[in-house]
Amino acid sequence: MFDELSDKLGNVFAKLRGRGVLTDADIKEGLREVRRVLLEADVNFSLTREFLERVEKKAVGVLQIKTIQPAQQLVKIVHDELTAMLGERREGLKMSTVPPTIIMMVGLQGSGKTTTAGKLARKLMLENRSTRLVAADVYRPAAIDQLETLGKALNVPVYADRDTKDVVKIAKAGIDQGVRARDRVVIIDTAGRLQIDADMMDELKKLKAAIKPDEILFVADGMTGQEAVKIAQGFDEALNVTGVILTKLDGDARGGAALSIYGVLKKPIKYIGVGEKPDALEEFHPERMAGRILQ
Ligand code: GDP
Repeated sequence: MFDELSDKLGNVFAKLRGRGVLTDADIKEGLREVRRVLLEADVNFSLTREFLERVEKKAVGVLQIKTIQPAQQLVKIVHDELTAMLGERREGLKMSTVPPTIIMMVGLQGSGKTTTAGKLARKLMLENRSTRLVAADVYRPAAIDQLETLGKALNVPVYADRDTKDVVKIAKAGIDQGVRARDRVVIIDTAGRLQIDADMMDELKKLKAAIKPDEILFVADGMTGQEAVKIAQGFDEALNVTGVILTKLDGDARGGAALSIYGVLKKPIKYIGVGEKPDALEEFHPERMAGRILQ
């Protein structure tokens, strides 16, 4: 995960450490390199600029007090600013005081939405929160089968109704079943398309109004970089999402989506997908992630 980004930043700081005492020019040069690395990682352009402005402001202060190990101080500043860029602190799922908590999963087809719904259900079950999945993707016939197969494999109950295409009806019936079973969480897997289209958004808005979810989690393919951020903005404008799950970070050497999505959307990344297996879903902690990038 983020190997390229991590290696390149490591090289920049190794060079600075090698210098010992840092001049103004050394710092400027180092920060120029950090800027290039971030842009190569496909981090949003204006976020990169703001990031460097903040780092530079703090770095000047550090230099003035003629600190020992100035390069190490610079790493710390970059670490803190990376943490801020990634979302500052962990935000967990917002659980409803009256169960079940309703989570709507939204995102484009292929983003990993259905797989992630299964992974999240499994994780919650392991935390002793009984969880039900609801198959509300009625356009792709295989999607219902996929969720049912996943549910069986993970031992998570799945509500599906192949006799109707009315997703509000399906979601409500699934939630009713969850209420009767005293489930803590009901996760609704909604339909995705290959790209954002008005019909899909209308349906999702209608569903949101009808079931009033506690969480609307936007699932994005992390490997698509700025494209993921753009799509996220589209979903957020229409639905006011409550959080993001970035998938496929196991194959993402650059990290541009992870570093930009919070800054652009101001919505927390709640989980990350790091593989195809059911347990490959991790809680997202901004500070830990910054530490991993700068290790
Ligand atoms: P959906 O169309 O959005 O529901 O996408 P799917 O859940 O069907 O996932 C599409 C593909 O991405 C599948 O082959 C998944 O196994 C794969 N996938 C999902 N999440 C991850 C992840 O975190 N890492 C990797 N490597 N593959 C993933």
